[in-house]
Amino acid sequence: EGIKTGWNLDNSYARLPKSFFTSLNPTPVRSPKLIILNAPLATSLGLNIQALQSKEGIEVFAGNRVPEGALPLAQAYAGHQFGHFTMLGDGRALLIGEQITPLSERFDIQLKGSGRTPYSRGGDGRAALGPMLREYIISEAMHALGIPTTRSLAVVTTGESVIRETDLPGAILTRVAASHLRVGTFQYVSKWGTAQELRVLADYTLKRHFPEAEANENRYLSLLQEVIKRQAVLIAKWQLVGFIHGVMNTDNMTISGETIDYGPCAFMDAYDPATVFSSIDIHGRYAYGNQPHIGGWNLARFAETLLPLLHVNQEEAIKLAQDAISDFAGLYHRNWLAGMRAKLGIFNEEIQDESLIEDLLNMMQKYRADYTNTFRALTFGTQEDMALFGTPEFAQWHELWQARLDRQQESKATSHQLMRNSNPAIIPRNHRVEAALEAAVKQEDYSVMERLLDVLSRPYAHSPEQADYSTPPAPSALPYRTFCG
Ligand code: AMP
Ligand code: MG
Ligand code: MG
Repeated sequence: EGIKTGWNLDNSYARLPKSFFTSLNPTPVRSPKLIILNAPLATSLGLNIQALQSKEGIEVFAGNRVPEGALPLAQAYAGHQFGHFTMLGDGRALLIGEQITPLSERFDIQLKGSGRTPYSRGGDGRAALGPMLREYIISEAMHALGIPTTRSLAVVTTGESVIRETDLPGAILTRVAASHLRVGTFQYVSKWGTAQELRVLADYTLKRHFPEAEANENRYLSLLQEVIKRQAVLIAKWQLVGFIHGVMNTDNMTISGETIDYGPCAFMDAYDPATVFSSIDIHGRYAYGNQPHIGGWNLARFAETLLPLLHVNQEEAIKLAQDAISDFAGLYHRNWLAGMRAKLGIFNEEIQDESLIEDLLNMMQKYRADYTNTFRALTFGTQEDMALFGTPEFAQWHELWQARLDRQQESKATSHQLMRNSNPAIIPRNHRVEAALEAAVKQEDYSVMERLLDVLSRPYAHSPEQADYSTPPAPSALPYRTFCG
């Protein structure tokens, strides 16, 4: 009773031009129930865990109560979905405000599944429990893996059903993000806003995410270059852990460099660049091996929105944009290569490293080796039950690799330590995630999910009690399929 929750909200986005958003409150729900609360995240945001779990605290997560200082709004944005440009916007989410933390950091607090908005089109504005818990699990796993991502603060059920193919329990996820600025936000303002509004958006973004670039001679070029750098870093990290986003539409690419929109994403088991899980990605546009290319494509769409700001002369502007965009592939590749060297325990650089890596990946593909477990086995020198390890090809490669490690100053022990820190034992395996969701949604048994979350929070611990969670799924006749949720 009477404990302060700790909401300390500012609303900088609400001070932007009115065309950027629509102010509205969440639609109240029948009977909110807290399913999961992220206590460490809550604490780091300056929130009080006890107070969040009180009736009033839960009502905030449900959208039944607007906390003091909040100015809820739905953000307008556009985007290329599978290559086709369209108007979008928060159709089932609301930004309730920006939490200013005890360390004076600023994080968007967003309710996802909070009811219809002017951007809902045919949708109901709601979300189902399974997909919201799935986002919670995978986003928190990504965070523990050291990958920039939006976070998940809480999931509540609403006491209402949502109608999909069947009736499902309704839920609301509270998402925490550095911001929800997207490539699609710039596309929206570029297409339908004024030149002045575009400048306001770019200046707001610089101030919020790239303050060190604000004083640069051409700060809008710096903005473009910095976003390109962050996405190069991010997508390299995805590739290195075998993460497949699944729906890299431009509205699902952040300006901050965080992973966002955990709809049809999933982790790859057997290594194959053509891996696709999303049921709607029929042509493999967002396949694992195509993610870096699509990243570059999306960034080119971002660059186009900035053209009027880059230079008064349009030809000069295009040239600046093209130069910046052409840097992406190299930046990405350098990040990826550095990460791959670390996964193999390599500290220094040799020209042949790339072919050493390529040879390993090609063998992994040929023998359908589990991506995560191959690197784990290399780390610990174990021969797991994998066809790859019995082959003469592998024996030959292994010799080259060992000789490579001998050509650096660092000891084998130091190399091993680097590999331990670069190769997770634990990823959110699809069958494990499904089992957790099934128990939660069908039996209201959250213990399977809680154990999974605990294990996922220490992916580099390599502790024996985690061993169970590293097992790939049993071979199945049907490929794993994901949905947008
Ligand atoms: P996504 O595929 O998650 O990137 O979402 C694409 C667009 O569809 C966004 O504008 C979402 O806000 C909107 N959307 C997704 N699901 C719903 C829903 N149930 N009700 C209203 N809008 C939705
Ligand atoms: Mg989206
Ligand atoms: Mg989505």
